[in-house]
Amino acid sequence: PRTYLVTGAASGIGEATAARLRAQGHTVLGADLSGSDIDADLSTPEGRARLVDRARELTGGRLDAVIASAGRQLFDPQTIQVNYFGAVATLEGLRPLLAAGTDPRAVVISSVTAIHPHDPAIADAALAGDEAAATAAAEAAIQRGEGHAIYGSSKNALARWVRRTAPTAEWAGAGIPLNAIAPGTVLTPMTEPMLATPGVREIIDSAIPMPLNGHAAADQVAPLLDFLTSPANTHVTGQIVFVDGGADATLRGDGA
Ligand code: NAD
Repeated sequence: PRTYLVTGAASGIGEATAARLRAQGHTVLGADLSGSDIDADLSTPEGRARLVDRARELTGGRLDAVIASAGRQLFDPQTIQVNYFGAVATLEGLRPLLAAGTDPRAVVISSVTAIHPHDPAIADAALAGDEAAATAAAEAAIQRGEGHAIYGSSKNALARWVRRTAPTAEWAGAGIPLNAIAPGTVLTPMTEPMLATPGVREIIDSAIPMPLNGHAAADQVAPLLDFLTSPANTHVTGQIVFVDGGADATLRGDGA
C-alpha cells in the first residue's frame, strides 16, 4: 500500500480519486477547507504552510504521491490564488516528502480551459511567482468585465508551470514524474449549478465540445490520476493529459 495526499478531497474529482485509492487499500490523507484529515485554506500563505506542516506530522515526512485537485471557478482573485499559487505551493511544499517516498509521483488538475484565450497579464504574473501582481491583474480583469478569464488563465499558467518544472533536477532528476490532467466538463458540485442554469449549459458545451461520451463523471477521471501516480508510470512526465471527450482535438484540430 502507498500513502497519498489528495487536496480538494472533500468533493468532486478529489473525493472520487481518494475513494478509488482507499478501495485499493492505499492510505489517503485528504486535505480541504474543512472536514478532512488536514483542514487548510490554500488561498493563503498560512494555509499552504499548514498543509505541509500537518502532512509532515501525519506521515513522518514521507509521501508516495500527491494529487492536487483543490480548485475553484469563480470570477474572483481567489481563483488564481487557489488554482495556481495554492497548487504550486502544494507540489513544491510536499516535494521533499515525495523525495523520501517510494516510487514518488505527483499530478495536478489543469483544465481544457487552459487552451482557451486567456489573460496573459494574469498567467505571466503567476508564472513569475508574483502573487500580488497576479491578484491585481485578476482584479483588473473583473473591472473590465472579463472575470471569466481568471479561471482559464490560472489553468494555463498551471499547465505551463508543470512543463517547465517536470524536467528539472528536483523532479525528473529526483525520479518524480510530475504531470497535469486537463479534464473537459466533469459533473461535480463545481459544475452542476452552472449546467443546471438555462443558457449556461449551452455556452459551456460550445466552449468545451465533447464528442466522445459527453460530460464525464468524477469516477471516470479518477483512473487516469490513479495511473499517473502509480509505480507503473515510469516515463510519463511534463504532460498535460487531456481527459476531455475530444474537446482538445476539436478545438485545436491536428495541432499543426
Ligand atoms: P469541486 O468543487 O467538487 O471540488 C473542489 C474542492 O476544492 C472542494 O472540496 C473545495 O472545498 C476545495 N477547495 C476550493 N478552494 C479551496 C481552498 N482555498 N483551500 C482548500 N481547498 C479548496 O470541484 P471539482 O470539479 O472536483 O474540481 C477539482 C479540480 O478539477 C479543480 O482544480 C477544478 O478546477 C478542476 N477541473 C474541474 C472540471 C470540471 O468540469 N468539474 C474541469 C476541469 C478542471
